[in-house]
Formats: sequence, C-alpha cells, structure tokens
Amino acid sequence: MPPPELVDLRRLLAEISDLDRARAVLEWDERTMMPPGGTAARAQQIGTLERLKHDRLRSPEIGRLVDVLASYGEDIPFDSDEASVIRVARRDHQKAARIPTKLKEEMALAAVAGEHAWREARERSDFAHFLPHLERNLELKRYYVECFDAADPYDPLLDDFEPGMHTADMAILLNELKEALLPLVAAVREHAEAVDDSVLIGVFPIERQRRVVADLLRSLPIPPDECRIDEAAHPFVTSFSPHDVRLTTRYDERDLAGSILSTLHECGHGFYENGIDSTLEQTPVCRATSYGMHESQSRMWENQVGRSVPFWRNFHKRLEAAFPAQFKGAGAERLHRAFNVVRPSLIRVDADELTYDLHIYLRFELEREMVGGRLPASELPEAWNTRMHEYLGVEVTDDAEGVLQDVHWSEGAFGYFPTYSLGNVIAGQLWDAVNAALPDLSEEIERGNYLPLREWLREHVHRYGRSLTASEIVERTTGGPIAAGPYLRYLREKYGELYGLPAS
Ligand code: ZN
Repeated sequence: MPPPELVDLRRLLAEISDLDRARAVLEWDERTMMPPGGTAARAQQIGTLERLKHDRLRSPEIGRLVDVLASYGEDIPFDSDEASVIRVARRDHQKAARIPTKLKEEMALAAVAGEHAWREARERSDFAHFLPHLERNLELKRYYVECFDAADPYDPLLDDFEPGMHTADMAILLNELKEALLPLVAAVREHAEAVDDSVLIGVFPIERQRRVVADLLRSLPIPPDECRIDEAAHPFVTSFSPHDVRLTTRYDERDLAGSILSTLHECGHGFYENGIDSTLEQTPVCRATSYGMHESQSRMWENQVGRSVPFWRNFHKRLEAAFPAQFKGAGAERLHRAFNVVRPSLIRVDADELTYDLHIYLRFELEREMVGGRLPASELPEAWNTRMHEYLGVEVTDDAEGVLQDVHWSEGAFGYFPTYSLGNVIAGQLWDAVNAALPDLSEEIERGNYLPLREWLREHVHRYGRSLTASEIVERTTGGPIAAGPYLRYLREKYGELYGLPAS
C-alpha cells in the first residue's frame, strides 16, 4: 500500500499536469490554426494557466507532501514510478518555490511583448526596435538568477532546459566542438568541389513535396492513431499525452532537402513523446528528460539516419519517381552526397551538419556575456557580425539575417541554445551504442525498416521520461559520461570520406 500522502500528492500533481497539457493545446493551436486576431486573448489565456500551475506547484501543501515522502522515496527502487514521481516533484517544487509568482508573470508578459516586437524588427531588419525588449528580458533574467545561489549566473538559466547541468561543463564540451570543427570546416572548404549539390537547386512543387513527405511518414513506425501532422512556419512537436502527439513540418518550393530533413527531425522528437511510459501520465515525470536529450533524438533521425548512405539506398527511388525531371537516374550516391554538402552560411536552421555547432557556439558565448553583464545588449549586432566572420567566414550585411534570425532571445529563452549542440553530442554517443547493440541496423535502414531503431530508443531512452536524467541515460547506455568524442569521430570519418580529406 502506498502511503496516503502519495495518493494526495499524485492527485495534486495530476491537476497540475492537466493545466500544463491544456496550455500545450492552446500553444499548438496558436502556432498551427489560430487566426492572428486571437493573439492578445491567447496570451492572456496561456498566462492564466501558467499562473495557476506555478501557484499550485510552489504551494506549501505540495512542499509538505514531498518532504514527508522523501525518505519513503529513497527506500524504494530508484527507477520505480513512485520514487521518480516523488524525486522529480520535490525538485520541481523546490525550484518553483524560489520564484515569486509576480516575477513569473512579468517574464511571461515580457516574452509576449518581446516576441511581437522581434517579428516587426526582423521584418524591417531594425535591431533598435527590438533592443528595449531584449534589455527588459535580460533585466528580468537577472532578477530570476538572484532567486538562486548560483556560482555562475548562467547556471539557473541552463538548468531550465538541461536540469542538473552546469555552465562550466557545457562550456568545456562546446569548446571541444569548436576547436575540432574550425580546422575540419576549413579543410572541407579547401575541397569544396568534391561535393556537388546542383541536383537540389530548382523548383519542387509543394503538392509533390507533400506526397513525398506523406510517403516517408508511412514508412516510419509512427502509430497513425496516436499522431497527426500539420504545417507550421517554424516546425515543432508537442504532445498532450504519449498517445496524442502533434508533429508539424514546413514546405518551401526551393528547398526540398529542408522539408525531408525537417520531417525526419520532428519525427525524432515525436518518437520520444510517443514512447514515454503511459504509467507516468498525469505526473511531472511524463516528459522528455531534457532539451538536449530531446534534440539528440531529432538530430539522430535527421542526420545519422536521413543523411546516411543506407537511407538513400532506400529512399532515392521515391524521390526519383516524385521528381523525374530533376532526379531521373540520379542514384543513391548522388543524392546522398547532395544532402551532405557543407557550405558555411548565415542562418542556423539552414546550416549543414558540420557548421551547425559553430552557430550554436557563437550564441552560447554571446548570451553568457550578456547575462553576465560583460556585453551590453546594444553592442550585440557588432559582436554577432564579428564572430560570424571569425567562426564561419561569412559577412552579415543585414540584422534580419544576423542577430534577429532566431526567436529565442525575444522570449527570454537564454540557456536554450547550447542544448542543440548537446543533442548532437548525445546523438553521437547513442548512435555508437545502438549500432553495437544492433549489428544489422544499417541493413535494416537500407530495407526501409526503422522499427528496430525506434524500439531500441524507446527501451533505453524514451520510456523513462524524467525518471532518469540525460547523464544517467548516457551512463547506462554507454558506460560513461556525456562526451564529445564519438560525435567528433563520426563527423571526421563521414566528411573526411565525402570530401576526400587526407587522413589526419
Ligand atoms: Zn529539434
């Protein structure tokens, strides 16, 4: 018999979870269906649900229950649903209790206003229009940081996206990526002629792209009665239960690679949401464990699968059939190479696999400096442009394609960016682990059978939800801590071969 306090705790947590899922429905609708006229009312509705949720989570009643249950939770198996619920709820409560509801509300309001101003500013490439909102978001984040006894002011911000990870460790990891990628990208640029992607340049009618994507989705192991897919300007995935997952994708008639790769990317997120154990529903554990782990899943399906030789040996025929004028007789090898071209560019979301982490490094560096007070927001465009030149060798002539390209800072989401690179790193480690466990994985992918990969990920990553942290999952699947080695080895081997680089 569970203690009566656990029954009470689960009842309160179920209500908080319902508020949170209702907010997710409103957000999904806002980004896929809602006419623009709904914006102001929707912001208020979401704000109300957020406030109710925050007030309940930090309530003394939950505080009492998690304290009473703490020792019981330590005596039962660590992985059990009960122990996990107590552990995660206690952590969430203690964190929420530090943050006044008033501050939470002000941050939410500033995020809505900031995003609105950012859209206008980006349209006109007018950083000055956005600057006061950026400054306001930073000011509120400083109050937020003061709620914690943090060694580094960036720590509490990073913790919102990557629970338990410290800035110092993230900095070591990202620095290792940067130091390895700069010479690798330079070497690839010297051999740029080795990879030809001219076959992807042209107009690909959207109606046909939709059919290719529908075909791709049918070949992926997604239960059709538990998922749906819609279109959104900025694709994302959300879920209202593990049995109700919402995918989105986007189409651009000049970017066929984008719609295929972004569909695979979002499916990777969707598999995660869909794979969390149903027994965890209506608890705070029924979530992905971290943003980095979530991104590891999407990047694995996008890159290790979607940009691989076995995938193209299977999929090239479908593209050739859908776009005969462009691809007739192109073959698997030509398409595989075209989908892996490396070309340093201005925009993060369009970046190739090799330069992507340099875009992230730059953002991580700049936001740490802003949060730490070492870089005034007014000097951001200049710092951005200088470092784009330094890391990627590209010239920014327009803030819309520079510092204004991403939504994150307008919403006050400082600490989010590094989790994209962490996802790449973890994907590299998990990819080694799954290939060691499933020696036939390449052959299965070449046959178009993606089920073994999804099942392995479900068993070792997805089902746990937040029962295990990202580093605990990596420890259990690879026997070691989160480390960049496997990802960098994968990149060196793959691009060394594609571009014919001399072995180093
Ligand atoms: Zn993603």
